[in-house]
Amino acid sequence: MSCYPQKVPFVNLSLQHQPLQTQIEQVIREIIQEGDFILGRSLAEFETAFAAASGVKYGIGVACGTDAIALGLQACGIHPGDEVILPANTFIATIIGVLQAKAIPILVDCDPDTALLDLTAAETAITSKTKAIIPVHLYGQMVSHTQLLDLANRHDIIIFEDAAQAHLAEREGYRAGSIGKAAAFSFYPSKNLGCFGDGGMLITNDSNVAEKMRTLRNYGAPSKYLHTEIGTNSRLDNLQAAVLNVKLPHLEKWNRDRTLAAQHYNTLLEPLKHQGIVPIANHSSSGHIYHLYVIRVTEKSPINRNTLQEKLAQEGIQTGIHYPVPCHLQPAYQNLGNRGDFPHTETLCQQILSLPMYPGLSNTQIEQVVRAIELSLNC
Ligand SMILES: *Cc1c(COP(=O)(O)O)cnc(C)c1O
Repeated sequence: MSCYPQKVPFVNLSLQHQPLQTQIEQVIREIIQEGDFILGRSLAEFETAFAAASGVKYGIGVACGTDAIALGLQACGIHPGDEVILPANTFIATIIGVLQAKAIPILVDCDPDTALLDLTAAETAITSKTKAIIPVHLYGQMVSHTQLLDLANRHDIIIFEDAAQAHLAEREGYRAGSIGKAAAFSFYPSKNLGCFGDGGMLITNDSNVAEKMRTLRNYGAPSKYLHTEIGTNSRLDNLQAAVLNVKLPHLEKWNRDRTLAAQHYNTLLEPLKHQGIVPIANHSSSGHIYHLYVIRVTEKSPINRNTLQEKLAQEGIQTGIHYPVPCHLQPAYQNLGNRGDFPHTETLCQQILSLPMYPGLSNTQIEQVVRAIELSLNC
């Protein structure tokens, strides 16, 4: 918690919940009255609705996004010892998912402009043991599917999307979650679509993957007391699904709000380019749903990222860093790489700063943020 008075928070969830409060309380009350808590009607409804919104046939709700990756990879036929390629520049949960599936994570560097998986680097990492590639649609921007599909087809590997930051994002006419064999989403409260706790989902067009996923999340049981897999207990609570059912119809509008806010940031930040302030590149125009709005404080800037963040905090502007330490330099993951192995990722981690971004962020607030950045650079 900062000791400075806060003018612009990093996120503000109550703005989206207040107008829906009565409706949310009503659905929660109904579920309590019906006693329908596990694998209930609201969950089935939300699974169908969210998959359909993403342009995909089946949705399987699980306890969190990490489980959607871990169980989803297993449902897609990834076995212990299989190699899975993923970007070094991601949230740690992508790696945890791979490790929980007992597969071997193979990290590759990112594109320095978009911060997304570098597909050329990915291609050189492919071996005879490679079974899957995980594009992470980071910050709300999808990895381009054309190159990705080409690479996956040529090497006969599975595409498994980590779409935890990309609910209803689009690129080249495709929605997040519709380009791979399956895709994992998270409904952690601050994601573009968030519930009131932890939640996640796997979506897929493959009926066999869907069936196996339903089994894995429910004690490996395709029907009661028949256990065909070892599985686990990882289900999206019916209460959480009910909250998500109320929120889902508003998601496109919220995403649009974020995109408009990002456009305003882009315009106002343009003159600061010559002082080394460079937004992460958007190659998907309005399909980028800006889970985060991230700038780079490059070598050309008169002050470094940490100084800028501190100065903004003094002005009451809350920012974040996603993420400050690359996964392969974290104490638990040092076997995944050495310092210097993924230079673009390592540089980005020192340069990136996430500015306030949420539906309802006003133009006045955006102007305040940019003015504060300008002042910080010039004094
Ligand atoms: C949030 C997130 C996850 C994990 O989701 P949880 O619901 O927190 O388990 C995975 N990958 C990425 C890129 C995320 O941002």
